[in-house]
Amino acid sequence: MGARIEAAASGWDVSPVHLLRPIPGIFSLADLDTSATPGFVGSKSDAVRLMQDRGKRLHTLQEKLYADAVAGNGRAVLLVLQGMDAAGKGGIIRHVLGTVNPEGVDHAPFGVPSSEERQHHFLWRVHKALPRLGHIGVFDRSHYEDVLVARVRRLVPEEVWQGRYCEINEFEDQVADQGTVIVKVAMFISLDEQRQRLLDRLQDPHKYWKFSPRDVDDRLLWPAYRDAYQALLDKTSTEVAPWYVVPSDHKWYSRITVMELLIAALESMNLSWPSASYDIDEEIARLERS
Ligand code: AMP
Ligand code: MG
Repeated sequence: MGARIEAAASGWDVSPVHLLRPIPGIFSLADLDTSATPGFVGSKSDAVRLMQDRGKRLHTLQEKLYADAVAGNGRAVLLVLQGMDAAGKGGIIRHVLGTVNPEGVDHAPFGVPSSEERQHHFLWRVHKALPRLGHIGVFDRSHYEDVLVARVRRLVPEEVWQGRYCEINEFEDQVADQGTVIVKVAMFISLDEQRQRLLDRLQDPHKYWKFSPRDVDDRLLWPAYRDAYQALLDKTSTEVAPWYVVPSDHKWYSRITVMELLIAALESMNLSWPSASYDIDEEIARLERS
């Protein structure tokens, strides 16, 4: 996709694929404006309207990915979602992945490791959760928690989490080599926006379940989390598995952006509808006789 795409038709002035990659050594999370909407020239209602169109496109592309796997090609897409509580990860899953056939999505949430998981290498549970061929996998949190919460809360010694950046890069290299296109999205909201979203959860009995007192504990550790996110973006944004930093105070912006990133990833795979492995005329004739 060219950097400039039809503004009138799409709402995008410049594709987010070209705008949101943090440049190591230059990108500074402390300076990020989480309320910005880089590249999008339209309003919220333009974005909401565009979501419907682009959702159809994503739906078709995933079907093509599945058809490609049926034809024997071993490809998949992996979307990694990272962000603090209430950053909007769940909304991405509902509103972006929700446009795709549910059979085509492999959803994997990563919470506090179970006692069994703790007995294994940190990538053990991640290997098991990789998307099946033909599917779009979504990691709702991921192996990056092992260089975020593990670092901030000192769950392992420093030399252990320091070594994990390299391990993660090697792991993602292998996953990409096996035919999975990786898209990593880091969602950031301001502290004020997070306070408001968490308060909303505490003021609505239908949302209590979404809240955990841990969310406030983590919020109080934000400066340490910010450093950990900065290090992660500096050390693990690679050519085969790039990070995209998505300002997420506006939910409509983060959703249309991730939609576009997924579409671009699928389009980069040059998928085509497989030709029939049987004689079409003969099958029609057989059906007509039947
Ligand atoms: P949520 O995504 O809000 O349901 O919360 C999941 C919780 O699991 C978060 O507090 C994460 O920090 C925590 N978590 C996820 N992965 C790990 C990990 N590898 N080690 C420790 N805590 C984790
Ligand atoms: Mg949470």
